[in-house]
Amino acid sequence: MLSYEQARNKVIEEVGKRKGPCATAVVSVWDALGFVLAQEVKTDREYPPFDRSTRDGYAVRSKEAASGAQLRCAGEIKAGDTVMQSLAAGTCLQIMTGAAVPPGADAVVMIEQTSRKGDLVRFERAAQPGQNIVPRGSEAAAGQTILTPGMRLGYAELALAAQVGAVQLECACRPRVAILSTGDEIVLIDETPGPFQIRNSNSVSLAAQARIAGGEPVVLGNAADRIEDLGEKIERGLKEDALVLSGGVSMGKYDLVESALKAMGAEFFFDAVAIRPGKPAVFGMCQGKPVFGLPGNPVSTMVTFELFVAPAIDLLSGAAARPLPLVGARLAEALNEKSGLTHFLPARVEWLGGLAEVKALKWQGSGDIAALTKANCFLVVPADREKIEAGESVSVLLRKDVV
Ligand code: AMP
Ligand code: MG
Repeated sequence: MLSYEQARNKVIEEVGKRKGPCATAVVSVWDALGFVLAQEVKTDREYPPFDRSTRDGYAVRSKEAASGAQLRCAGEIKAGDTVMQSLAAGTCLQIMTGAAVPPGADAVVMIEQTSRKGDLVRFERAAQPGQNIVPRGSEAAAGQTILTPGMRLGYAELALAAQVGAVQLECACRPRVAILSTGDEIVLIDETPGPFQIRNSNSVSLAAQARIAGGEPVVLGNAADRIEDLGEKIERGLKEDALVLSGGVSMGKYDLVESALKAMGAEFFFDAVAIRPGKPAVFGMCQGKPVFGLPGNPVSTMVTFELFVAPAIDLLSGAAARPLPLVGARLAEALNEKSGLTHFLPARVEWLGGLAEVKALKWQGSGDIAALTKANCFLVVPADREKIEAGESVSVLLRKDVV
């Protein structure tokens, strides 16, 4: 059986091998958060476009502003002022943050290091050449490529695009992720379930996870545990960029997802992973599309989506697969888990004075969504560990949606 790392790498390898060029669309910079860029963005001019003061203070010739020296202030420069005239020898100019440093000046002394009487400014410390000035062109040259295809647009990337006037961006279309739940016991979330029926919560969590991962969820409803119904709905799902099923992949007599996919021509790369929850997870390619059969217990569905489906969505978006958000933490209370499988336990990590400390939460197993709402991470218990003592260092998989 594959470890979760091996299974994840398999997904990355197979989806990476087969994906074609992504469809693209032009998106306004206001709406492009989370999209993957499909074009280069170049600067429209040098950055900064002029020698920029980073402080409120005085523009000086550094040689003239020794410790204890005094210079006459000959005027002021505000941010946005047109600056043409040189700094006259023996003078200084009051300057504001973001203003252009005048020709002749080679340093800005921050106001806190000066004292002033009338026009006379006294310098408490010797000015150093270049201090508090960002030279013209030092952040980027004119026409330089500053954003490249495959980059994900976060707030900094969007601000950079805006800075250079790139207000419309060609981006990869979000991959359309078909979501199909399965099970005779499942009813719509706005229906009142019979005493032995269950509302379709998995389609809701999967749609949310698909969205966070950068995909566009296409919710197809629920298939009954019958080959014909599964086949029909799988066929519909294969029209999208990827298909994610929940339920029907365990060993039960009515777990028919694998057979239904096989009947549609699927080739499987794994049908079990050494993890709990989530062991029966299935991944294959069917008619050129990645297909995932995730176990139906809600927490299993969530964990296996994060481990295996999210990297596929990255690749289908034209980006590299982002690494799992794993961080180290100190274990607060000793743990005793059966070995042989890597466990992902709902847990809460707190940062105490900057040091992460994690505690596993009580739960009733992989059907317990309520326990997960108290968790902000999964504590990862390696397959080869049975007992972990308090104080030991462990890994946690952060819940990206709440941390
Ligand atoms: P399965 O993987 O089909 O054996 O289902 C495992 C458990 O998950 C069963 O208790 C199901 O009732 C439950 N389950 C399956 N699908 C869903 C769903 N769409 N929403 C909520 N629970 C589900
Ligand atoms: Mg089922």
